[in-house]
Amino acid sequence: MEKNYRVLLYYKYQKIDDPELFAKDHLAFCHSIGLKGRVLVGQEGINGTVSGTIEQTQKYMDYVHSLPGFEDLWFKQDPADDYAHKKMYVRTREEIVALNLEEDIDPHQLTGQYLSPKEFKQALLDEDTVVLDTRNDYEYDLGHFKGAVRPEIRNFRELPDWVKENKEQFMDKRVVVYCTGGIRCEKFSGWLLKEGFKDVGQLHGGIDTYGKDPETKGELWDGKMYVFDERIAVPVNQVNPTIVGKDYFDGTPCERYVNCANPECNEQILASEENEAKFLRGCSQACRCHPRNRYVAEHNLSTDEWEEKLNAIGESLNKSHSA
Ligand SMILES: [Zn+2]
Repeated sequence: MEKNYRVLLYYKYQKIDDPELFAKDHLAFCHSIGLKGRVLVGQEGINGTVSGTIEQTQKYMDYVHSLPGFEDLWFKQDPADDYAHKKMYVRTREEIVALNLEEDIDPHQLTGQYLSPKEFKQALLDEDTVVLDTRNDYEYDLGHFKGAVRPEIRNFRELPDWVKENKEQFMDKRVVVYCTGGIRCEKFSGWLLKEGFKDVGQLHGGIDTYGKDPETKGELWDGKMYVFDERIAVPVNQVNPTIVGKDYFDGTPCERYVNCANPECNEQILASEENEAKFLRGCSQACRCHPRNRYVAEHNLSTDEWEEKLNAIGESLNKSHSA
């Protein structure tokens, strides 16, 4: 069935002289057509994901393509059942994806070789190539390319340090990197070259493009792709999809992300509805007993009910509060 909405994912490294003014005009236009989403604007370019009806997203693409320097911006498009965002934001940033390098990289000057989905698939099958996932650990845990290296990072900014500490694993090999839509790899692959890696490739257009490619059809991808909008998980592999996500509490297959109910923790965990209820959506005993636990508030649990739920899993409110 034809879907009435679309999600757009895009970026372009292209100099913007006055990011504040650019952002202000951009936001006004988005509001005028009723678009929703999140756009980051900096002197180095633009990075966004927006959603709306077919008509709204078409008007937006036409608008962006009318801006000098952005005529050829590449929009990745996903059909959707509804908006994938609640509000519309346009914000200015020093970097449109924060890597926080001491010496910034201009991807127009230095970046890894662009690989088409077909070339990337060959790299995946090549034993002498290391495929490195540049995304965060929780993104990897929901889905990733078969055999890809999983850096232990919660944030992209931590990736350069992680690579420095684990260099010996792949210094002498061909290194190929990938991310959701390609933007994170632009600077990062350039940084790898600067660090002395000789042969560096990047998946052009990211996982998103690989999944839609008529030849690769997302093959060799396991699980779902994490996206930073209301959908959270989207399919990639059209050939033989699998589930690799595991429930935080019991390890069973799961692709349902929730945020820990302790507002001071907020950790993203995969959990079934059943386990969310059983463990009061808390990632630890301290989070389950936290005085401002959101699950408890949302369900109007009395102290007795709260205690009863904790007792059922061998824990107690009093014990934790006195401890
Ligand atoms: Zn927690």
